[in-house]
Amino acid sequence: MYQSFIGLEVHIHLLTKTKVFCACRSAFGDEPNTNVCPVCMGYPGVLPSLNIEAMRMGCTVARALNCRIPEKTWFERKQYFYPDMPKNYQISQFGSPLGQEGYVVLEGRSINKRVRIKECHLEEDAGKMIHTGTVSLLDYNRAGVSLLEIVTEPDMETGEEAELFIQQLRRTVRYLGVCDGNMEEGSLRADANVSINLPGKGLGKKVEIKNLNSSRFVRLGLNYEIKRQGNLLDQAKTVTQETRLWNENRDQTEPMRTKENAQDYRYFPEPDLPVFTPDQAFLASVEAALVELPASRMRRLEQDYGLSREQAELICDEKALADYFEAAAAAAKAQGLDTRDGAGRIANWVLTDIKHILGREGMALSSIGSFRLKPQWLATLVVMVARGQVSMKNGKQAMERVIAEDREPEALIREAGWEQLSDPVQIGKVVEAVYSAEAAVFVQARAARAEGNQKRQRSLTAYLVGRVLEQTDGRADPKIVGAQIELLIQTP
Ligand code: ADP
Ligand code: MG
Ligand code: ZN
Repeated sequence: MYQSFIGLEVHIHLLTKTKVFCACRSAFGDEPNTNVCPVCMGYPGVLPSLNIEAMRMGCTVARALNCRIPEKTWFERKQYFYPDMPKNYQISQFGSPLGQEGYVVLEGRSINKRVRIKECHLEEDAGKMIHTGTVSLLDYNRAGVSLLEIVTEPDMETGEEAELFIQQLRRTVRYLGVCDGNMEEGSLRADANVSINLPGKGLGKKVEIKNLNSSRFVRLGLNYEIKRQGNLLDQAKTVTQETRLWNENRDQTEPMRTKENAQDYRYFPEPDLPVFTPDQAFLASVEAALVELPASRMRRLEQDYGLSREQAELICDEKALADYFEAAAAAAKAQGLDTRDGAGRIANWVLTDIKHILGREGMALSSIGSFRLKPQWLATLVVMVARGQVSMKNGKQAMERVIAEDREPEALIREAGWEQLSDPVQIGKVVEAVYSAEAAVFVQARAARAEGNQKRQRSLTAYLVGRVLEQTDGRADPKIVGAQIELLIQTP
């Protein structure tokens, strides 16, 4: 068996309104080459200027990954020639990136591991090449868009760990509101580095799988490479240090090029941008942007509301969903329900019916904040069910009407006549009527009881309870109905 080493380089598009070194709009999907200017096109004599929001967002991610922000951070030029890069160099960070030496803890079903973050650096994205037939088209709208690169140490060992890293990072940057995490649109892309070696021999010769645009491909690509490299070493062959691509149609990695090293890029300090020295006010604004992160929120939801691990995980997957849940739980508590009882009921409604309805209406979980069923209204429904004021069935039916009619549930339930019937005298009248209409069934039920045939007695009782519920449009409290029917069977 070999030891494997995986390090990731993840690029995220920061949600700044403008590009990182010029005032061009930063947007996905605009008409090609409309968001360009002399600065991002690299005309001679123009000067870049740093977008402070990009620096702030970058530093916020760095802090969320437990990185240190250095006293001074600056930019370098990374030279290379490629048609998607009009300046022939990329402004990036090399000597003192904005975030250094952090870590994250991977927490999964069977994974619990600390992964060191080597650095986070801010740079500009390149343009986009579109190859069609014999020509290649260039769209420079993306050239100069704020990009944060997060580089880990080679601390992961399996494709599954790397996949979890990407998923956790994606959730974190979405919580922070600095990246939409949309991997299909390229807002979050990963390069995965992997090597294997005999145990105790340290790092092996590294292969980089470039431009992975789904966390699943990260897992598949890495596991494929670990196997491929293992086969080579088994045959006493050597692994070539190279860059490969994941071919999603053939489920394999394929060679792309042999990789240049840092020296080939001839990094040197960007002369047109001053060194950035974060002051107290800047650092304070970074700390202020650090919201409660998904991992600690999950833990808090488990402890404070008594949710299961799985419930907490599902609810915390989206910040908006967790916000909605907490608002509803607080409202249920304000209406007098015990915190844990209310929260447990709300979690059930949210994770089953509400998720289902959002899916049906084509709404993303992240937009639950604008869902017509306000958290307070959900709380009212849950509280009314908990108190037996409305049956579960009618409560769910009322929820649909609340959503369709955009109105408050209590009055709606009253007007629809869906309030639960729990007056024993009123229920008794309906039970009497069913007793006359179903006399034969009562006889059978008594016989079953006399024979000690519990199963048959139960099913006959259930039938009779059902008849009473039918007569009351499902409003009669089934517990009270059941007790009255039982009594009639026992005492002829
Ligand atoms: P490069 O200069 O080739 O970009 P870096 O040192 O910047 O290399 O590392 C890039 C990524 O590759 C990092 O995530 C790092 O953890 C990972 N890495 C470096 N060496 C190895 C190796 N031998 N095996 C696996 N991953 C590695
Ligand atoms: Mg590198
Ligand atoms: Zn521009």
